[in-house]
Amino acid sequence: QRRLLSVNDLRVHFSGRKSGGLGKPLLIPVVNGVSFEVLQGETLGLVGESGCGKTTLGRALIRLGPSTVTGTIMFEGREISAISNHEFRALRKEIQMIFQDPFGSLNPRMTVGQVLEEVLLVHRIARGDAARRRIEELLDLVGLSREYRNRYPHEFSGGQRQRIGIARALAVNPKFIICDEPVSALDVSIQSQIINLLKDLQRDLGLTYLFIAHDLSVVEYISDRVAVMYLGKIVEIAESAELYANPKHPYTRALLSAIPNPEFGGKKERILLKGDLPGPMNIPSGCGFHPRCPSATAECSQKEPRLQELTSINNGHQVSCFLYE
Ligand code: SF4
Repeated sequence: QRRLLSVNDLRVHFSGRKSGGLGKPLLIPVVNGVSFEVLQGETLGLVGESGCGKTTLGRALIRLGPSTVTGTIMFEGREISAISNHEFRALRKEIQMIFQDPFGSLNPRMTVGQVLEEVLLVHRIARGDAARRRIEELLDLVGLSREYRNRYPHEFSGGQRQRIGIARALAVNPKFIICDEPVSALDVSIQSQIINLLKDLQRDLGLTYLFIAHDLSVVEYISDRVAVMYLGKIVEIAESAELYANPKHPYTRALLSAIPNPEFGGKKERILLKGDLPGPMNIPSGCGFHPRCPSATAECSQKEPRLQELTSINNGHQVSCFLYE
């Protein structure tokens, strides 16, 4: 499989000030040196608690948000982190994002047809009759009745609105879609409908996804590989079946133990983590997970483990933990 996206040592900082708003401006690290690849036609799941930097990472890939980004982002062999904003705008047809709350990004005063037509006009894809046909095609693709084109966003259910969000992303014929918690706000039965829709679209249109979620059970069914993030870093990445059957990092094990299914990781008992996720201004020394890790040793608070492949398995499973070095 060809590499579609490759990210190397991505770091994202927000600017802020210490509490109270006084003092010198600070750079708050949210993504702390992340490297990964997404292969053509696959889904890479990206999972972690809220605050781990996964959404910031997804947004940084398409230059959304008031952040400072360093590192290299290659898309189809081109270093897109080095191009001007003007050049980047043209590339936005290739890379689209769908959001947790599509309603927030849909203009309530525009009908669905107008929302989609606007995208087609802005990107000079179609106008007039051609645009009307394309809108019908898009509604068919996402499983919505063509008559819905004359309705307003508030007339739809959460699942239908997410279908509109997907149609809007598809309008420009993208190759790569960053799905940012697209089902987190939906009921479980609707979640699986949307995930099935995304899978069908991937197969039919040859799409590639980065699928961001806070829950490992959501990404299991859709992901070919899964990366687990903790405090702005990837701590484990593996093929999906491998990760669920053979989780290595203590954090991944704890996340899996929270899913009420004894199959996952062979663990029946829930592993409870001590304390809360530290804030980005208080990242612990050494392994960032050590204050909460049930297996931490003295070394863990002093040295930082590297993300490296488990040579004993040799199937691309990488983990960042001294237990496996
Ligand atoms: Fe736990 Fe140490 Fe591994 Fe970090 S390096 S996950 S603290 S055992």
